[in-house]
Amino acid sequence: MKKIIYVDNAATTAMSDRAVEAMSRYFKEVYGNPSSLHTVGQTAKEALDEARASIAKCLNCEPREIYFTSGGSEADNQGIRSAALQGAKKGKKHIISTAFEHHAVLHTLKKLESEGFEVTYLDVHSDGLVTAEQVKAAIRPDTALVTVMYANNEVGTIQPIAEIGKVCREAGVTFHTDAVQAVGHIPVDVKADNIDMLSLSGHKFHGPKGVGALYCRRGLPLLTFIEGGAQERGKRAGTENLAGVAGMAAALGEACENLGKNALYLTRLREKLIDGLLKIPHSRLNGDRSKRLPGNVNMCFEGIEGESLLLLLDAKGICASSGSACTSGSLDPSHVLLALGLPHEVAHGSLRLSLCETNTEEDIDYIISEVPKVVEYLRNMSPVWEELQKGIRKHLI
Ligand SMILES: *Cc1c(COP(=O)(O)O)cnc(C)c1O
Repeated sequence: MKKIIYVDNAATTAMSDRAVEAMSRYFKEVYGNPSSLHTVGQTAKEALDEARASIAKCLNCEPREIYFTSGGSEADNQGIRSAALQGAKKGKKHIISTAFEHHAVLHTLKKLESEGFEVTYLDVHSDGLVTAEQVKAAIRPDTALVTVMYANNEVGTIQPIAEIGKVCREAGVTFHTDAVQAVGHIPVDVKADNIDMLSLSGHKFHGPKGVGALYCRRGLPLLTFIEGGAQERGKRAGTENLAGVAGMAAALGEACENLGKNALYLTRLREKLIDGLLKIPHSRLNGDRSKRLPGNVNMCFEGIEGESLLLLLDAKGICASSGSACTSGSLDPSHVLLALGLPHEVAHGSLRLSLCETNTEEDIDYIISEVPKVVEYLRNMSPVWEELQKGIRKHLI
């Protein structure tokens, strides 16, 4: 079989051996319902408590501040809606966010706008960053919530979350962060970062899909979306996904143990990859080069379409992305690249390569040797590129 180089880890990751092994116990061995009072149930309850404690430790919070969900999207929905509706009770119906959030956040905010909330979307600078000063300037007496993502899923830029959190804390405004791309990849500490609510997802750090968590600081009200039993302190009914939760806890524990080592390794691969791809004429790196996730590379190549590039790379065994998985298949350029101020023509020619610890130096060498060939091939049949060459069109990169 052809060797596959998977560099789409921002979309999802393969599960780690430790996570698979941790899960396997919960199918036939520890199968109880944690709400049952008998031994089988109580064994399951203990495992659930352990997983919760282990995740809390990684985030520096209390176990009771962790609520398990079906993933990052649900955690975003629950956290944001809870804070918004709590604010509305006090007549506060203003929310601050950014233009380049994940759709789980943006679409939740759109819905809230249709329900009478007002949302200020902060402009993202061309380097893919927003500042605490911008947040501070946007806060009003009627601001109920600030939600700014920890690290962007497309361009990988890491926001100044501790500073933004401090501004919110001082103003008495609830601060939520979508940390799905950050947790397990860079240090995240809800206390040091002044975070009130945080979303995370198991499958972005080598855990299983369909399971995530919402951290909600003690004392902050949380809405119940799924009514039923008293699971998750009454905030989310339904028999717990114990295998998923255990797999996620194992994956996060492993990721946190190896955080520094992995970041060092990935940063080295990333820098090599960026240097190699920037040799392609009329190419650019999107997002600040240093304030970015260790494994994220996001480039634009002028005169080509990202989708064609992806398909040809796939034929060479390189699995990458042109943006977020949610928008692929549509012809609109990525809302994230547009938020960074890139023109449509440039944003169309984007490529995201998101690495993980199992990628090797040889993988990087192969990508650096293949991408330029594919870009050249596509440019040779691109009418846009021809116009650029003839000077009919001006180069934008
Ligand atoms: C993947 C992702 C989500 C959604 O998480 P799911 O577990 O797939 O629902 C939300 N936000 C960001 C930034 C993501 O990368």
